[in-house]
Amino acid sequence: MVMAAAKGRVLPLLAVAAALAAALLYRAPFSKSLGGEGCSLLPHDHFWIASECVVTLGRVGPAAVEVKGGLINAIAVGDYRSFLLRRPVVDYGDAVIMPGLIDVHAHLDEPGRAEWEGFSTGTRAAAAGGITTLVDMPLNSYPSTVSEETLKLKLDAAKDKLHVDVGFWGGLVPENALNPSALESLLNAGVLGLKSFMCPSGINDFPMTNSTHIEDGHIDMLSSDHSPSAPDLKLMEEGNFLRAWGGISSLQFVLPVTWSHGKKYGISLNQLASWWSERPAMLAGLKKKGAILPGYRADIVVWKPEAQFHLDDSHPVYHKHRNISAYLGKQLSGKILSTFVGGNLVFAEDKHAKAACGAPILAK
Ligand SMILES: [Zn+2]
Repeated sequence: MVMAAAKGRVLPLLAVAAALAAALLYRAPFSKSLGGEGCSLLPHDHFWIASECVVTLGRVGPAAVEVKGGLINAIAVGDYRSFLLRRPVVDYGDAVIMPGLIDVHAHLDEPGRAEWEGFSTGTRAAAAGGITTLVDMPLNSYPSTVSEETLKLKLDAAKDKLHVDVGFWGGLVPENALNPSALESLLNAGVLGLKSFMCPSGINDFPMTNSTHIEDGHIDMLSSDHSPSAPDLKLMEEGNFLRAWGGISSLQFVLPVTWSHGKKYGISLNQLASWWSERPAMLAGLKKKGAILPGYRADIVVWKPEAQFHLDDSHPVYHKHRNISAYLGKQLSGKILSTFVGGNLVFAEDKHAKAACGAPILAK
């Protein structure tokens, strides 16, 4: 830049931007068209969204984000209202614009246990909760995802039902752990990684492995473990925790729940984006997800951290079973205004886009 050259050295780009208090445009090439009709509540495939509070490039502040052909095309940092943006601009005022959440631990239970959860209901709940990518666990569906064939059953069951993007973990079980070619064909078929249990999984069709099968690991991010069941297995009347099915049902509310508790400990929006988007994307090997950056898929949540709501009977809940969440009756902070998946506005003002245009994600 001219100013930097005049001083005889290159200043950091952001410092220059701050000094000028003007537009700084980060651009990326793109190539990808949007899905079909009914995929988005917005009638554009090229537009800007803007607010005073955009979480991008390691900072939080005013910016405008250009969405084009499903991708983030450019980011203009600074006083966006003074920019001359030629396309439609959706101005979200002081709401937070953040990368969509990536939940790497969810059980969608199809095929085989659609009465517990499902691709349609689970991904609608995700969209309503600002989650733009789910990675489905290999167990609780039947059969478990432990081979190329069973992954194919998953993909068939998911067809035309995904309101957000969904990837799949494969299961490491004794049957394939000792059979390298079975494991390789499962990985080649596109699972994002492998999950195994070192203790009983709670479900007979997913046996545990032991230390001869796998080394233990460490995770430092957040995920929901959304794993509901049919309500009768929860033994609501009996109230016996030891006998009730242990999975929790929370997908739609992970952002307000995390924020409501985390803000008491002073967590920042950048931290939230790291725990819920950036690191999960790394774990699942999702290269163009997990941040608002040029060239990335336009997966975005817009929300109001200070907006409170009471999760009572009248609140819309899109999980398969609305009455078994652990957070019913709670007062929470953080209301989701809009969710974009691949540039499509899939959820806004308590409405979903008509068509299910999320994509299955397969490792290449
Ligand atoms: Zn789980």
